[in-house]
Amino acid sequence: MRIWAVVESGKPLQELDIPTPEPTGEQVLLEVTHCGVCHSDLHIWEGEYDLGQRGKLRMADRGVVLPLAMGHEIVGRVTKLGPDAKGVKVGDTRLIFPWVGCGKCAICARGDENLCLTPRSMGVYQHGGYATHVLVAKPKHLVDIEGLDPALAATYACSGVTVFSAIRKAMPMEPNDPIVLVGAGGLGLNAIAILKALGHRNIVVVDVADGKLQAAKDAGATSTVLASGEDTAQRIVAAAGGPVGAVIDLVNGTQTARFAFDALRKGGKLIQVGLFGGEMNVPLPLMPMRALTIQGSYVGSIPELNDLIEIAKQGRIPPIPIAKEPMEKADEVLNRLKDGKIVGRVILTAQAA
Ligand SMILES: [Zn+2]
Ligand SMILES: [Zn+2]
Repeated sequence: MRIWAVVESGKPLQELDIPTPEPTGEQVLLEVTHCGVCHSDLHIWEGEYDLGQRGKLRMADRGVVLPLAMGHEIVGRVTKLGPDAKGVKVGDTRLIFPWVGCGKCAICARGDENLCLTPRSMGVYQHGGYATHVLVAKPKHLVDIEGLDPALAATYACSGVTVFSAIRKAMPMEPNDPIVLVGAGGLGLNAIAILKALGHRNIVVVDVADGKLQAAKDAGATSTVLASGEDTAQRIVAAAGGPVGAVIDLVNGTQTARFAFDALRKGGKLIQVGLFGGEMNVPLPLMPMRALTIQGSYVGSIPELNDLIEIAKQGRIPPIPIAKEPMEKADEVLNRLKDGKIVGRVILTAQAA
């Protein structure tokens, strides 16, 4: 099989030939047909996260081993089954749940593999979808997407389930009670689509780029706020008609965390999703006085991905803008994403797809 791999952090991806794995036990081998290029791939590629005054969190210290084929928004066609793999057959097209854990602990057993203490996430700790083939641990990591556009469905495995899980943490809220989304990139547009699918009618979107705010408006945002200067929190409150019950911060940097926190009302929740980096100073008395919640949300669980796909199959999620590029252009696409030049999502496709 061929992979487009990170060989050295931050350096151009290299096309490598490696042995195609033979599925054993419950494993399933798939031919990759589609793979989304996600913002978090930039961090994996660059090899670190910014922890503010605590320095850097290095991917190597988290157990990431190079060379690595990144890519965790993967759709593929089943080509080979391990002897114990049940429930799929050769030729089936499936979306892959990439946030796999050890598969043995109590957390994995209840379906929350994304929270396993020994993660095996695809495209992070093992080869992902920037490749011709991909090996999946168990058939339960495969989701039937019949009737859906596979390029769009690929995005549900990361950006889709990530915002779905974050939205679940913000709920319940009245449909007309404003929810604020910070960041109008791929995640933000997915969040607007899913909020609308869930019947939410008041969505305020914040971003630093006018072009992205326009994309958010086109996707159905109720109002938008350009993040700039010291008064961003006041302008969010003004756009929402008062302090807000929930902010989902899809950027999650030092600046966004500040205005997101400052825009909350009593009982409000700040759900932190993005990995932009930096740090947050919390005035401690305000936490109890305002009964605030700050909660992190990391991707989503297998049940959440299944629930999301069910909603998508009912045609309730309007598509986000998708552009397709051949797999060979993985490195170029990554660089465009780094330069902030991508609206929506780019999906790498195999030549045959
Ligand atoms: Zn992702
Ligand atoms: Zn586990």
